[in-house]
Amino acid sequence: MSDGDCLFCRIVARELPAEVVLDRDEVLAFRDVNPQAPTHVLVIPKQHIASLEAVAEHHGELLAALVAAVNQVARADGVAGGFRVVTNIGRAAGQSVDHLHLHVLGGRPMSWPPG
Ligand code: 5GP
Ligand code: ZN
Repeated sequence: MSDGDCLFCRIVARELPAEVVLDRDEVLAFRDVNPQAPTHVLVIPKQHIASLEAVAEHHGELLAALVAAVNQVARADGVAGGFRVVTNIGRAAGQSVDHLHLHVLGGRPMSWPPG
């Protein structure tokens, strides 16, 4: 399932360019166009899911694949053991693209709490 108006569905369909770092059956990972850290990769399901809030029990395998991809990206970028995974849900939290994406951030010290 995809949404022709969705930016990330269009990246999945290769209608828009992206620096893809991992391509699996159900998961794609590509570098954020506006990186907030030396490593800033977005890990997304290829199917359109609006946010983490729309994830249900039947997505179990997909979630496992997403997390496996996150870890693989972290290892490939040399940040394993020290990175942050963030997903924003809704405008109040800063979500600007309504297609589930896990931000993988690393390569610099991270402060807490996030802004
Ligand atoms: P959000 O604000 O929804 O949590 O994160 C959306 C992210 O997508 C932002 O970090 C933004 O820089 C990134 N982004 C927006 N448009 C594009 C694009 O066309 N290509 C890529 N690679 N990243 C994008
Ligand atoms: Zn989408």
